[in-house]
Amino acid sequence: MFGVVPGIRKSMHHREEPKPREFSGLVADIFSLAKPHLNIVDAVVGMDGAGPSAGDPKELGFIMAGSDGVAVDAAAAHLLGMDPFKVPTTAIAHRRGLGQGDIKKIELAGDVPAVRSDFRWPSLWRYSLVPSSLARAGARLFWIRPVIDPVKCVNCGACVESCPVSALSPAERTPAFNYRLCINCLCCQEICPAHAVFQRKSLLAGLLR
Ligand code: SF4
Ligand code: SF4
Repeated sequence: MFGVVPGIRKSMHHREEPKPREFSGLVADIFSLAKPHLNIVDAVVGMDGAGPSAGDPKELGFIMAGSDGVAVDAAAAHLLGMDPFKVPTTAIAHRRGLGQGDIKKIELAGDVPAVRSDFRWPSLWRYSLVPSSLARAGARLFWIRPVIDPVKCVNCGACVESCPVSALSPAERTPAFNYRLCINCLCCQEICPAHAVFQRKSLLAGLLR
């Protein structure tokens, strides 16, 4: 569900809630606002270990679907050999009444595959050692924001018109940003005919990338 957040605003949310448990609450907030009618999991090939890219691909050979996204997530965790309530997003969403996370109350239909026991789960314990306030303070050093190259900009105003939150206003040489309003959607970068909008990263963001 984090995919419904536009552009690099995702990185802002990671910055606001850098710890997994609090971040899972934020994902549940998003789910409560944009609940899909149908949830499909492509589990033909899965991945274990540390996501989103550091794990190992593993053949699973199934596809899941259901109208209750929390139940689909719970069933996926169960089929990979984990207690669904140990997945923070599922536990929080179930507790808030956003769906059914109790595997005993979920009916699995169709060709139900055998429960796997060979999946490594990502470890969260390192994060739990860092106090939330410290994690947030460190995360403030991580930012990415759009910037206009004055050499390329022809001051056509297209970015000002495209900005959904009026974070850009006309100015003499190039439009000016109000970063307090900017939601990092990058519409301005997409629309610019002169390719004058680029992303500036903080030192920490640059290093991590
Ligand atoms: S769209 Fe590009 S060229 Fe036009 S004003 Fe904005 S930054 Fe400048
Ligand atoms: S200035 Fe506007 S269009 Fe550009 S990234 Fe920010 S919110 Fe999006």
